[in-house]
Amino acid sequence: MKILVANLGSTSFKYRLFDIDDTQASLLANGGFERVTDYTQCIESMLQGLSDDGHLDTGEDLDAVGFKTVLGKDLSGCVEANDRVLEALDGFKEVAPAHNPAYAEGIRCFSDKLPNVTRVALFETAFYQWVEPAAREYAIPKNWRDIGIRRYGFHGASHKFVAERSAELLGSEAIAKRARGLYVDGPTSYHGPPLRVISCHLGGSSSVTGIKNGVAMGTSMGFSPQSGLPQNNRVGDLDSMAIPYVSKILDIDIEEAERQLNKESGLLGLSGVGNDIRDISKAASGGSKEAQLAIDHLVESIRHWAGSFFFKMGGAEAIVFTAGIGENNTEVRSKVCAGLEELGLELDQEKNEKTRLGTEGVISAESSRIKVLVIPANEELVIAREVYRFMNTRQISLNN
Ligand code: AMP
Repeated sequence: MKILVANLGSTSFKYRLFDIDDTQASLLANGGFERVTDYTQCIESMLQGLSDDGHLDTGEDLDAVGFKTVLGKDLSGCVEANDRVLEALDGFKEVAPAHNPAYAEGIRCFSDKLPNVTRVALFETAFYQWVEPAAREYAIPKNWRDIGIRRYGFHGASHKFVAERSAELLGSEAIAKRARGLYVDGPTSYHGPPLRVISCHLGGSSSVTGIKNGVAMGTSMGFSPQSGLPQNNRVGDLDSMAIPYVSKILDIDIEEAERQLNKESGLLGLSGVGNDIRDISKAASGGSKEAQLAIDHLVESIRHWAGSFFFKMGGAEAIVFTAGIGENNTEVRSKVCAGLEELGLELDQEKNEKTRLGTEGVISAESSRIKVLVIPANEELVIAREVYRFMNTRQISLNN
C-alpha cells in the first residue's frame, strides 16, 4: 500500500512516501518545501517529482494520505480526515494557531486535488488518552473543565515511536508489541519486568514524556503546544498571572501578549540571538551570558520534567533523546545527565560525542543501570502504520 504522510507547518510542507504491508514499511521518498504560501502548488510539485522518480504515475495511485494533526476539539485517535476532523481542528484553532489552520488547509487542498484518495488523521493527543485524570486535569472551575481546558499532550507520534523502538533496543518485544498496538487494543495486560522510559523530544518544539511499559503516564505539554519546556520561540510554562500584569504595565492587549509569548519567547526570547540552538551555542561560546542562560534554562526544564516522571514511575530503566536537539546537541544531553550517578545514571562522554546526525545508539556507560539512548525521530512511520491499519480495517482507534 502506498501511503503518503504529510507534515504541514504554517510555512512548510514536508512529506514521506511509504510502501507498507503487514510485515514491513519501506521509505520510498521524502522531501519538502519551505516558505510555503500555497499548499496546492506544493502538492502539484511533489506529485510531479514522485512521478518523475518513478514512484507514482499519478496522485491517484496513492492508497491514502496521513496527517499528523495536532489537537482536535472533542476528537482524538486515528480517524478519516473528513468534515468532522476539519470542525475539530477549527474548534481549537486559537489553542494551536501555528498548527490547526495549516492542517485544515492542507487537508482541504488534498481533498480538492486528489478527491478519490482517502485522507486519514492521527491526532498527536492520541498517545495520552490513558493518562490518569489526576495528571490530566488542571485545578480550575468546573465550567472551564466542561469546555475542554485540560492537559492534552503533544508530540504523541514521536513519543510513541520512542516507546516502540526503545523497547526493541532494550530487548523487550512484549512491550514493543504492546506499544505498537496501543491505539487499537489499548493498554493490554502485561506482567513482565518493568520498562520505564523518560522520552525527551527536543527540537524546534520540545516535550518530555514518561512512558511505563509502552503507555504514556504524562507529559510536559498541557492544554496547548505552548506549554511545558521552552520552545524555539514559544514560551513554555508560565504563571497565568503574568499575562494580565504585563497587559497592564506594558499597555498591550491579550492578543499582543499572546503573540509575543508565541513568537518572541522561548529560546529566542531568553537568548536574544535566535531560535536555533546552533546559533545560541555559538553565541554562548563567544561569551553571551543570555545565550548560555537560554541553554541552561532548557536543560533545567528538561531535568525538572524528567525528575517528575522518574518519581511518578518509581524509577526508570532508560532515558531517550530524540528530535533535532536531542539527536545532535551533545552539550544538552551531557548537562541533562550530569550528577546522577547516585541514581544509577552515567553517561559515556565519548559515545555521547560520537552519536549525532541521525545515528541511533546507547550513550550511557556500560556500568550505568539507567540506559541513555539516542533514537532518531520517526513520527512519520508511526503515522504510516496507523493509516495502513485504518485502511485495512476501517476501524477507528480508541477514544474517538
Ligand atoms: P526539529 O524540530 O526536530 O527539526 O529540531 C530543530 C532543532 O534541532 C533546531 O532548533 C536546531 O537547533 C537543532 N538541530 C538540528 N540539527 C542540528 C545539528 N546538526 N546540531 C545541533 N543542533 C541541531
